[in-house]
Amino acid sequence: MVADKVAGMGRIAVIGAGMGALAAAARLAVAGHRVTVYERTQTYGGAVRRFERDGFGFDTGPALLPLPAVYRDLFVKTGKEPLEACVELVQVDPSARHVFADGTEVSLPNASRAGVVAALDEALGARAGQRWGDFLVRAREAWDRTRRPLLEEPLWPNWSVLADREPYPALPHRRLLRTRRAGTLAEVGAWELRDPRLAALLEGHALAYGLDPRAAPASAAVLPYMEHAFGTWYVRGGMRELARAVYERCVARRVEFVFDAEVTRVLEKDGRAVGVELAGGTSQAFGSGEGRVVEADFVVAPGSAAGLPARADGEVAPQQGLPSRLTVLLALRGARPEGSAHRTVVHTVDREGELESLFGAAPSVPARPTVTVLRPDDPGLVPDGDHEALVLSAVVPAGAEIRDEQVDALVAVAERAVPGLRDRALWREVRTPADIARETGAAGGAVPAPALAAAGGRLLHPGNSTGLQGLFTVGGWSHPGGGLPHAGMSGALVSGLIVEGPEFRGSQ
Ligand SMILES: Cc1cc2nc3c(=O)[nH]c(=O)nc-3n(C[C@H](O)[C@H](O)[C@H](O)COP(=O)(O)OP(=O)(O)OC[C@H]3O[C@@H](n4cnc5c(N)ncnc54)[C@H](O)[C@@H]3O)c2cc1C
Repeated sequence: MVADKVAGMGRIAVIGAGMGALAAAARLAVAGHRVTVYERTQTYGGAVRRFERDGFGFDTGPALLPLPAVYRDLFVKTGKEPLEACVELVQVDPSARHVFADGTEVSLPNASRAGVVAALDEALGARAGQRWGDFLVRAREAWDRTRRPLLEEPLWPNWSVLADREPYPALPHRRLLRTRRAGTLAEVGAWELRDPRLAALLEGHALAYGLDPRAAPASAAVLPYMEHAFGTWYVRGGMRELARAVYERCVARRVEFVFDAEVTRVLEKDGRAVGVELAGGTSQAFGSGEGRVVEADFVVAPGSAAGLPARADGEVAPQQGLPSRLTVLLALRGARPEGSAHRTVVHTVDREGELESLFGAAPSVPARPTVTVLRPDDPGLVPDGDHEALVLSAVVPAGAEIRDEQVDALVAVAERAVPGLRDRALWREVRTPADIARETGAAGGAVPAPALAAAGGRLLHPGNSTGLQGLFTVGGWSHPGGGLPHAGMSGALVSGLIVEGPEFRGSQ
């Protein structure tokens, strides 16, 4: 059945123009399929947006690219021009500057183990750098064990083995007469790193993905490992340039786009997806009187799309309870000081308060949040050399309504890293969970995390194949999860499953 469709080169309806869907669309078009993308908003990229005003430009979604290999592979597989010919990728160095609760600061060089160890030893003393370096070696083991099933391959049918075995080789921790091993990221911090600042550094990586370090499995150690091993990259002009390049690659491969086209239902016949139904008002897009129903041999939908057919019993449930983001775009007078770090993480002075606010029984916006400050060195984002474009962000509960004083609190925290910030502000623009919900379609503006091996499979995402033949899910709410590289991989996996069929086991 699938083989017939492949031989006949099917018509494929892709729902949404998020990064995962675009990656799938380009690959499927290259494989010879006729691909049409139906996007409910007026533009491509999903969360990857840019806000412009008065000559200033800001990324409002993700602003740094981990693991660029995923997008390099997409460009290699879909055309002659490599990624680097379409966008300018810049290594961010230092990878991040950290300002800890006690005022200690450290700048960590990009992708250099020796450099990171030396910087931490110098800033924190007491062989802290060595402990972090040793931790990265163990984190690498977790990465090596999970890289294939949790990034490069379709979700294993026996996914529960990923839940039962902790892939991080935790150190034995002796306390009184008992020996235990860290099961959560917070325990790794407390028992193996043994310095509140190193623990904050570790936990900050989980928090940046919206995960509670007290509940995130020890294997979430792969998150700092990924950043350390593959570096942190900036796309000149802002991350929207990456979305543009992927969109243009799709167009060059003859993918068709229909904007302002919300898919309301996946059509089924005899246990198979046979097309999609669109909300009204877009009929001109389909030519002569086809109306609002579009037939297709395969349908590719975002995992977050409402109204998808129910999943079969025994499948992984979607990730639950993930938070959103509050982002503040600041137009500043005065030049960006030479040598400013591109990214500064200002760690919370009230760890318990922040985690309780975000992950407790009654989620609320933390009063004293961890704030990420982004100051790209990019003349394309400012009207002239006497101004600076700065982006602040913090994790907030999904659906949170944001008040002015909460935005003021974010700016006040950022002042710990950028003194005089408020005096330099010309204006600010606030992006709330409601904006993210509008741009992505995810309820409450929740942001998906990458798949991780955790008990009960609670941090996995549903597989890309569904209970309905011919229907596949893509993007951050399906395997292998959220974030630019993971969503990009979901596109590669969906394309492999459609082109090669259910036997497809990954392209690496
Ligand atoms: C503020 C913010 C900060 C982030 N920061 C980071 C970060 O630092 N690092 C990182 O790795 N990741 C980050 N992410 C996550 C990352 O942006 C996403 O995981 C990634 O862009 C993948 O998105 P996606 O493919 O799931 O598509 P999405 O961006 O979720 O887009 C889905 C698209 O589908 C469309 N759509 C949905 N339903 C329908 C329908 N029924 N009909 C038609 N169209 C539909 C939507 O309009 C949207 O365009 C961040 C996200 C946000 C919002």
